[in-house]
Amino acid sequence: MGLKEYRAKRDFKKTIEPRRGGKGKQLFVVQKHYATHLHYDFRIEYKGVLLSWAVPKGPSRTAGVKRLAVQVEDHPLNYADFEGVIPKGNYGAGKVEIWDRGTYTASHLKAGLKKGHLAIELKGKKLKGTYDLIQLKGKPKMWLLIRRKS
Ligand code: MN
Repeated sequence: MGLKEYRAKRDFKKTIEPRRGGKGKQLFVVQKHYATHLHYDFRIEYKGVLLSWAVPKGPSRTAGVKRLAVQVEDHPLNYADFEGVIPKGNYGAGKVEIWDRGTYTASHLKAGLKKGHLAIELKGKKLKGTYDLIQLKGKPKMWLLIRRKS
C-alpha cells in the first residue's frame, strides 16, 4: 500500500491528475473513466489513500448482481475530487468524471482486506446500502462487487 506505484505510472509534468494530498473523511467515490476501455473506478478511503478497483461494467444497484472489480494501485485522497481529461499518451488517457460520491462505513476493514471479504455500507447519491467485495480465490487482484439485499 501507499502511492509508490501510483506515482511510478505517471509523469506529473504531463498529466493533470493530483500527485498527493487530501484529508480523511471516510469517503468513497466512483469515477466514470473513458479510457481505452470504458470502466468505473470504485475507490474508498483507507489509511490516507484511496483503495481502488476498476469495475468494467460499473457497480450494480440491483441486489445480487455480481460485478468484476479489478484492484488497481492506491490513489491519493485528492483523487476523489478529480475530474478532467488525462492527456493522450499518458497512463489512463481519457476523460474522468465523478459518477457518485459519498461516505461509507465498514467494520473490520483491516481484517476484511486480509480475509478477502469487505462489507461496505455506502451513503452516496446513486449508491446506497451494503456492498460486499469478495476476492476470488487464487486471484489476488480480482474481486466481485455485489449489492447486498437490504
Ligand atoms: Mn481508471
